[in-house]
Amino acid sequence: MIYALALAGALIVLLAILFVKERRRRNIVEHDFEILAQRKKELRQSLELLMDHSSDFYFHYNREGVVNYSSSNVERLLGYKKEDGPLQVKQFVTDNPINEQVYGHIEKLFRLDFDQIRPYFLEIKDAYGERHMLEIFETPHLDDQGNVDYITGIARDLTGVYKAELELKESERQQLLILESIPDPMFTIDSNLCYTDYQVVREGDLWFKPSQFIGKRIKDVVPGENGEIFETIITKAFETGKVETLEYEFGEGDSKEYFEGRVVKLDQDKVLVISRNITPRKRLEVELRKAKDAAESAVQAKSNFLATMSHEIRTPMNGVVGMISLLAETEMNEEQKEFVETIQASSDTLLRIINDILDYSRIESGKLAFEESLFYLKKVIDDSLGLIKFEAQRKGIILNSVIDEEVPNFIRTDRGRLRQILLNLLSNAVKFTEHGSIILSVKVDKITDKHVTLLFKIKDTGIGIPKDKLQTLFKEFTQVDSSHTRKFGGTGLGLAIVKRLVKMLNGKVQVESELGVGSAFTFSVKAKLASKVPTEEPTDSNMSSKEDDYIGEKFPLRILMAEDNSINRKLIALFLERMGYVADMAVDGLEVLQFIKKNTYDVILLDIAMPEMDGYQVVGMIRDMDLEVQPQVIGVSANAFKGDIEKGLKSGLDHYLVKPLKFIDLKEKLMDAYKAIQDSKP
Ligand code: ADP
Repeated sequence: MIYALALAGALIVLLAILFVKERRRRNIVEHDFEILAQRKKELRQSLELLMDHSSDFYFHYNREGVVNYSSSNVERLLGYKKEDGPLQVKQFVTDNPINEQVYGHIEKLFRLDFDQIRPYFLEIKDAYGERHMLEIFETPHLDDQGNVDYITGIARDLTGVYKAELELKESERQQLLILESIPDPMFTIDSNLCYTDYQVVREGDLWFKPSQFIGKRIKDVVPGENGEIFETIITKAFETGKVETLEYEFGEGDSKEYFEGRVVKLDQDKVLVISRNITPRKRLEVELRKAKDAAESAVQAKSNFLATMSHEIRTPMNGVVGMISLLAETEMNEEQKEFVETIQASSDTLLRIINDILDYSRIESGKLAFEESLFYLKKVIDDSLGLIKFEAQRKGIILNSVIDEEVPNFIRTDRGRLRQILLNLLSNAVKFTEHGSIILSVKVDKITDKHVTLLFKIKDTGIGIPKDKLQTLFKEFTQVDSSHTRKFGGTGLGLAIVKRLVKMLNGKVQVESELGVGSAFTFSVKAKLASKVPTEEPTDSNMSSKEDDYIGEKFPLRILMAEDNSINRKLIALFLERMGYVADMAVDGLEVLQFIKKNTYDVILLDIAMPEMDGYQVVGMIRDMDLEVQPQVIGVSANAFKGDIEKGLKSGLDHYLVKPLKFIDLKEKLMDAYKAIQDSKP
């Protein structure tokens, strides 16, 4: 019993001990759990802290694909809120093909069916529908039995990198497309000057088979000069890094082809050579050049032809005009006189037209050289005005010139051309003006030590020119109204000549006009200034060419012409005009004497057969006059008998000319007269 009691007591004690022990043990375990939980919490907190400042985030998901835990920065990064509850993977995974394997992969992870866990890419949508490319690093979490409980993962947002990568790929793809669309053969060459690659649209574009050039050095592939040229330019491209270009030929004779090469350095060891076949362009260039040369020589031939023709026509025309002048000296009834006057007027016009064409074709064929000389500007202006004076007077038009004070007296340019411009514009003005005035004004536009730009203006109160015709006015053979030809005559060349001549004088011509009010033609001339003002006009006794009829400039003479017959007056005036002279005109002996009293003349052209006082008498009276210088008197007569000439010379004539007057004879006599004057000077 006692044993029983003792046993029971011992049992109780043991139980009590066990109980106490158990309690103690329990207390210890509970305590450990608390510590563990605490640790876990701290760990999470520091993880959250870490994640908070990171663009990576952390998550768990289970076998059902439910994300049952995620770091709190997910809300900041993707907009998914914790309070909205756990997400299903299916909810945020996109349709990007990159995601296709993701479910299979998850399954394998849960089955522990893998050798090595590799990171993978996953595209997801955030709470706002924006796509993000994530790189995921995962590990399965095992329970006590060694089964996969859930999967822990860290995700890194690579959207920016991914986009940049995509863009790069896209731009590379586009570049490739561009390169492929270039039809020109392309080659890449390395720094050893060997071919490494090529691209052609047609294999036939290659001079050599790829096996013949890939990996080989240029000069071993391309024979001769081309090989060397290529190597030089490619070496240069490697050195400079700039795009180098070259043109080269390939082939012989008719099958020769032309190329344009461009060499672009791609990197230290690679240049791209683009070779373009420019044969069609080159051939076109050659054709165009040929056509241009042909056209130019045709124009040249035309101008030469015109120049020759007009010159040839002028010679017999002089005969016609000369004979008319003789005819005019004969006895005629009124009707006959009228006929002769008409013939004379027509031949006058014809001569003018021929002169225009001759001038124009001379300019066009480049035969008209720029001849510079120093001259007295006022004289050129007065001479030009003198030539239209009669016509203006006949029409009752006021003719005036206004020369600004600053305009220099002497300028150096082509005097003949300037005179011709003025004459053309002035004769147009007088032709197209019925009443009112023609004013020639000159002013300085610009002046420096050495040069002056003068502005000439010819303003008339004539019929004017319609606005729409102003543009074409300076084109050859254009007239404002085709009826002008019938009414006013002319070739439509005058202004075309003016334009070219003004250009020769480094100037420009312009026109302003109002229909029914008048026109104003303005032109500029850039001339040199005299270094010192000469006291006498410079002359040169050498004729530049026998062809040159324009002698007035080199042999300046003051001329008086005495002729009672108007047709003959016109003829002589025409001849003189062509030589560049403007003469005063007297109609009888009395007028001659009056002119001589007023002015000084170098030469008098004296018709012998004049009424009242004949030429012999007149010259006798001149010789008796007390003049500072006695003029050279040239008698002009239809009487060609030897006795008449002798009589004339005896009565005081210096020279004698026989009618019909020939241009060349008059020219020679005037030159003789000029020389005689020079010789008689002390
Ligand atoms: P044309 O020899 O026919 O006169 P131009 O070239 O000198 O040739 O002139 C061309 C045309 O310009 C003339 O036919 C005329 O219609 C017009 N024209 C020229 N100058 C004047 C002007 N001062 N007033 C009116 N019309 C003019």
